[in-house]
Amino acid sequence: MRTSWVEAALIIGGAVIGWYATHRWRVSGAPPPRGPSSDYLEGLNYLVNEQPDRAVEAFLRAVAVDQDTVETQFALGALFRRRGEVDRAIRVHQNLIARVTLEPAFREQASYALAQDYLKAGLYDRAEKLLLELSAGGTYRIAALKDLSSIYELERDWEKAIAIHRNLARIGRPEQPTAIAHYHCELAEAARASGDHALARSHLRTARTEQKRFARGALLRADVAIDMNEPELAVRLLRRVPLQSPQLAGEVLPRLVRALRACGREADLGPILAELAGDGRDVADAIAHAAILAGELGEPALLALARGYVGREPAVAETVQALLPGGVPDDAALARLCAALRRQALRAARFRCADCGFSAATFFWQCPGCKSWDTLKPLTPSDLAGRPPAAQGR
Ligand SMILES: [Zn+2]
Repeated sequence: MRTSWVEAALIIGGAVIGWYATHRWRVSGAPPPRGPSSDYLEGLNYLVNEQPDRAVEAFLRAVAVDQDTVETQFALGALFRRRGEVDRAIRVHQNLIARVTLEPAFREQASYALAQDYLKAGLYDRAEKLLLELSAGGTYRIAALKDLSSIYELERDWEKAIAIHRNLARIGRPEQPTAIAHYHCELAEAARASGDHALARSHLRTARTEQKRFARGALLRADVAIDMNEPELAVRLLRRVPLQSPQLAGEVLPRLVRALRACGREADLGPILAELAGDGRDVADAIAHAAILAGELGEPALLALARGYVGREPAVAETVQALLPGGVPDDAALARLCAALRRQALRAARFRCADCGFSAATFFWQCPGCKSWDTLKPLTPSDLAGRPPAAQGR
């Protein structure tokens, strides 16, 4: 199957080359073609004998003499890469670059294509070298910068990723506007892990200058404050996060519990969350959902939030209506229902990327599927049941 496809592609390539040769003869008045070259015949011979690699080499030699066959070779290289036959794609593009007479625009195109081959093959150091050259200017500048930032993110080389993104921002194409702030948070997390809280705070200050009202920065700064025995500061920082980013309630709750415990203010958890929930239904539902998943329903205020949530959440409300006359569970039934919801949620994916649909059991700031930042959102029982989201509002 694979071999027959390669044969087809090469024969089509050969046909195109033949057409080009005839066409050039007709329009240029040059001497008529002398017939197929020995390399072309050799390539056909290899194909007949099912030796596609040798056939590729022979065909590349056959077309090397004619600038007009360049596009055909690009098409062939791209087809090989798409098919996962990266070694062959690399050979096609290297062959193009090796031509001394290749026009500069084609040379640039071939360099970028070869960089894509290296990326696909996981040869990041070779790809990086080519992409750094291409990022200096020219047609592939922006594409090369984006690819470089992907490489540095993959290698967790955040300083280099920052430099590349600053370059992209100067050109005016910040596809991921929060990326630099996230890179500084990654550096802050590493500094915190090594016990360097001063450096962690310095990176978090930079993250805040890059991105105002940046939830991840506030969460991390709260972590540092708890480490440094400043739990009151942590509580103040954490209280702001659900109002800016309700979907992060699940990240806030365990930290808030820890910070309040460190201040000896455990009893304030319920009132604080109830006050936040007063900001709007989306905040209230996000906090209730997070509290149910965390099993944090001891406070009467949280149980009240959970009651409102199970009454509004379409998939849960339907079940409650079916099982209970009037649809209003008492405290004991509500606690059992929340425990069942928690068990169900812990068995399934709890987050989904709003961009690519990737789902995960744990939270990621960067989607492992499409590499976008800040796109993972918690899945509600209705999401899991495949229902449309409930109408939002206060
Ligand atoms: Zn994604």
